Amino acid sequence: MAHKKKVKKYFVKIEPDECKGCERCVNACPKAVLKMGTDLNFMGFPFAYYVGAGCVGCAACFYNCPEPGAITILEESDDTDDSGKEEEEED
Ligand code: SF4
Ligand code: SF4
Repeated sequence: MAHKKKVKKYFVKIEPDECKGCERCVNACPKAVLKMGTDLNFMGFPFAYYVGAGCVGCAACFYNCPEPGAITILEESDDTDDSGKEEEEED
C-alpha cells in the first residue's frame, strides 16, 4: 500500500556578505549544522555556512544573529510517496 507522508524539510541560507562572523548561530544551533568557513566576505570576515542537512527549523540561529538579513530559514513541504521504498513494515 502506498503512503503519502508530509515531510517538512528546512534549509538555512546565510548571506555571506551580511555575516559578521560572530559565530552566535554556530553556537546556538542544537543540531550543530552550522559551521564557520575559512573564506572571507567583502568586509574581511569569515562567514557561517549551513552544512546542507540536519536543520530542524528551530530558528535559534535566526534569533541569535545580530545581523538582520544574514539568516533565512526556508521550509519546504514535500508530498513523499514512499511506495517505491524497499522498507518493509511489520504488522
Ligand atoms: S534553524 Fe535550528 S537547527 Fe536549523 S540551522 Fe538554525 S539553529 Fe540549527
Ligand atoms: S550569527 Fe549571524 S552574523 Fe553571526 S556568524 Fe551567524 S550568520 Fe554571521
